[in-house]
Amino acid sequence: MRKKIVAGNWKMNTTVPEGIELAKAVVAKSAETPANVGLIVAAPFTHLVSVASVLEGSKVELAAQNCADHEKGAYTGEVSVDMLKSAGCKWTILGHSERRQYYGETDEKLVTKTKLALGAGLGVILCVGENLDQREAGKHFEVVTEQVKNVLYNFTAEEMKHIVVAYEPVWAIGTGKTASAEQAEEIHACIRSVLAGKFGGQVAEDTTILYGGSCKPSNAAELFAQKDIDGGLIGGAALKADDFIQIALSY
Ligand code: PEP
Repeated sequence: MRKKIVAGNWKMNTTVPEGIELAKAVVAKSAETPANVGLIVAAPFTHLVSVASVLEGSKVELAAQNCADHEKGAYTGEVSVDMLKSAGCKWTILGHSERRQYYGETDEKLVTKTKLALGAGLGVILCVGENLDQREAGKHFEVVTEQVKNVLYNFTAEEMKHIVVAYEPVWAIGTGKTASAEQAEEIHACIRSVLAGKFGGQVAEDTTILYGGSCKPSNAAELFAQKDIDGGLIGGAALKADDFIQIALSY
């Protein structure tokens, strides 16, 4: 049975001491959340080692928000998958729309990064999603299908066990506009059928697909009640431990 996950993406927010406090508050409340709901926090690179020690012994797992597209060497300013692993990460987010939009992250690059991350023993949360123009042009199914195929069709069924997909419509990220439960569900079902087309029904059934985009305590329950939505990737609301935990309690 696929795992339910609520993951917080802190983005470029909090200083190190603030991040440590936030992690402590999440850990303190994490025991209230259902045992079958996994919790992940994706902290900035500078916070990872400190936050890892706060999370130790709790159910909350640590993620990075990105990784380098090379294994090691002369790539000033980059952070490798081995560095992330040794800092205590279990996961990395890849392909967040902010990285696709502002840092030229292509599907091709994401294949490289995903290979490196899996090779280092990290799980990957791969983000996909259409922008507003694509949604208004009625191209959302097509865009998301292409993103999923371009990246994930390069992997095996075995590797898919370590990959979570996050559907994040760009027009809903940080805007306060959430996709309706129906809009989200139909794309999640589409992603699952695209996965089934390559890997078969069982892998598709077993893959966790998260929704992200202005998910908050007031709308999480309705989203999570959909049959193909297995949790959330949470931005703004993950910066408040109470809201983040409340979202995890929406199951
Ligand atoms: C995100 O950036 O992954 C996200 C979902 O942000 P927000 O919840 O703030 O829309």
